[in-house]
Amino acid sequence: MTVAQTAKRTHKITLIPGDGIGPEVSGAVVEILEAAGAATGVAFDWHRYAAGAEAFEQTGYYIPQDLYDSIEENRLALKGPVTTPIGGGFASINVTLRKKFELFANFRPIKNLPGLKTRYPDLDLIIVRENMEDLYAGLEHEVVPGVVQALKIITEKGSTRIAKFAFEYARKHNRKKIHAIHKANIMKLSDGLFLNCCRKVHEGFPEVEYHEHIVDNTCMQLVMNPFQYDILLTENLYGDILSDLCSAFVGGLGLVPGANLGTECAIFEAVHGSAPDIAGKDMANPTALLQSAVLMLHHINETETAERVQTGLEQVYREGKTLTKDVGGTSGTKAFAQAVLAAMESPVAVAV
Ligand code: ATP
Repeated sequence: MTVAQTAKRTHKITLIPGDGIGPEVSGAVVEILEAAGAATGVAFDWHRYAAGAEAFEQTGYYIPQDLYDSIEENRLALKGPVTTPIGGGFASINVTLRKKFELFANFRPIKNLPGLKTRYPDLDLIIVRENMEDLYAGLEHEVVPGVVQALKIITEKGSTRIAKFAFEYARKHNRKKIHAIHKANIMKLSDGLFLNCCRKVHEGFPEVEYHEHIVDNTCMQLVMNPFQYDILLTENLYGDILSDLCSAFVGGLGLVPGANLGTECAIFEAVHGSAPDIAGKDMANPTALLQSAVLMLHHINETETAERVQTGLEQVYREGKTLTKDVGGTSGTKAFAQAVLAAMESPVAVAV
């Protein structure tokens, strides 16, 4: 009898393996989720689609209509990295999908895994990044030869919506503090509007501490003492940059997960890109996509499966014997995935 037949629940998920290291990390993640699901009575019906250059070769479109339809139907996608060629008039696949499905909130938890030696042990902060506006609206044009203009779009609707998301998350998960990150001293109108919206939303959440920090100072403060922050609430560009910075605190881009959330759909993806320098070499760390999948499992209320995966993952890090090169180990992607599978089968009790 197949897993799907014995399972209590089946979830349809659109899977975009991506390119570069995408197929390797998503292959590992699917294998781990299948095993965790089989043990907890959950099955996954993966609807696989190419995107980007690979899709263009097959269909003539960077995002084929079938892929749009699949996400619209399933309302849930797990996405590996897809390369955006620099220049040449290509719209980013990531930005296009976020806009199409109104995935206005980008949620990135920055948390240490046990056993990893990092400069900031026990760090636990969250970046909530507006995902559709700002310079990512993609409105650029040449004014005259030699002069180009990029439009930074900040709206009351977009800023209020992301601020509400952050404050509601803080209330629900008992997080204490929100810092709105800005450069309103220079961009008085755009970042000024963003701040005004954050302040207004804060009025409805008096139990959550609210602060405002200028983005350049935030970079310095983060490196000096990231523990002073709890939730960073940002516009699109600042959030993108701060995410990479903060990923370094917990071991690098191979670890940090992300969720793109809208009111109808959600797409879960790692913070990292397609890492062409290590693609196809069995070197990629699948942890970031795996932790993105854990966020996805929580999102669909499959808590037991999510905890099984997270516990296995943490055990592998705690033991520290089968880690990938980016976090100081010598193992490959496949061996790491096998170690997580084995750890899920034989969990070791952790002394609290
Ligand atoms: P993008 O602009 O598409 O977000 P990027 O410029 O941030 O991409 P990445 O592709 O994320 O770049 O890679 C940055 C560096 O981090 C590279 O040296 C890459 O090898 C490393 N890296 C990224 N992801 C991983 C991973 N999962 N495992 C190991 N190393 C990684």
